Amino acid sequence: MSVSRKPVLQVPVSAMQHAWLSAMGVNVPWIVTEAAPQSAPTPSIEPEQITQVQAVSSDPSATIDQAPVAPAPEALKAALEALKKPQKRVGSQSPVPTIARQSSHMGESVKHQDLEQLQAMIRVCQACSLCEQRTHAVAGEGSAKPSVLIVGEAPGEHEDIEGRPFVGRSGQLLDNMLQAIQLDRFEQVFITNMVKCRPPANRNPREDEISACSPYLLRQIELLRPTVVLAMGRFAAHALLSTKEPLQKLRQETQVVTTGENPIPVVVTYHPAYLLRRPTDKRLAWEDLKRVRALLTPRD
Ligand code: SF4
Repeated sequence: MSVSRKPVLQVPVSAMQHAWLSAMGVNVPWIVTEAAPQSAPTPSIEPEQITQVQAVSSDPSATIDQAPVAPAPEALKAALEALKKPQKRVGSQSPVPTIARQSSHMGESVKHQDLEQLQAMIRVCQACSLCEQRTHAVAGEGSAKPSVLIVGEAPGEHEDIEGRPFVGRSGQLLDNMLQAIQLDRFEQVFITNMVKCRPPANRNPREDEISACSPYLLRQIELLRPTVVLAMGRFAAHALLSTKEPLQKLRQETQVVTTGENPIPVVVTYHPAYLLRRPTDKRLAWEDLKRVRALLTPRD
C-alpha cells in the first residue's frame, strides 16, 4: 500500500534556516512528510496556558537586586568589576581558593555569590563524590544576560576534559539547533548542566549528587534571569521541576520554575546526545525550539 505524502510545513523557513536544519538532520522532506507520526502544531503561548509545576525558592525575599555581596578575595573582586560590562561572556577560568566539602550548607553559601564568584566556587567544589574523578568541574558558559538558559544533565567525557559544556558532536548539534531559531551560543544563551561534574563512565547522576549540586543551578537562574529555560533531557527536567513525569508529557506544555519572585517559563526537550542516537525525534525537538522562539521577548 502506498503512503500519500501531504505537505505539513507550518512555519516559513528561510534559506539560512534550511541550511541549519539540514545540518541538524531536519531536511525539507523530513519536515513535509507525514510518514512519521504527527505531533500537534506548536500553539501560541498564552499566559493562562503556562502550567506552574513548582515554585523553587529557598528565600523569596532574597532577590538579586537586594542581595548583599559577601566580601570577596581580590581575584573575585576583579572578576566582579569585569562582570559589570554589558553582555559579558562568562566561563573563563580564574584562580580561587579551594573550598571544603559543604553540601549541607551549599544553599546558604551560594546565596550571596555573584556570577563570577559562583563559577569560581563550582570549579573547586568538593561537595559530593563526583569531585574525586573529574578532570574539570563544568560551571557553564555564555552570556551573562541570556535570553535562554540551557540546562543539560551532566558533563560527558569531552566536557570533562575541556571544562566546557556541550562540546563534541552534541555541542555541534546544539549549536545548529540554536542557529535554527536565530540564537547565538555566546551572545544570547548561557549553557550549563544540572550536575557540574562528570559521573564516572557517564552513569546517571544520583539523587544525592543532584541534591548537592542543585543550589548552584538555582543561584545561576537567579543571577542570569533568562527569559526562557530550556531543559534538555529527562534528568534536567526532573531535577529542575521536581517531578518524575515522563519527558514526553512535560514537553507538551510550557512549565515554570520560580526563583525568588521571578517565574520563568521552562521548555522541556530532548538532549542532543539522544537526538544523535534517534534522529527521527529531531522533528519533535523542532516543535520545542519553536516554542522557545515564541516565548522570547525583544530582550534578545
Ligand atoms: S557535582 Fe556539583 S556538588 Fe558535586 S563536586 Fe561537582 S560541583 Fe560540587
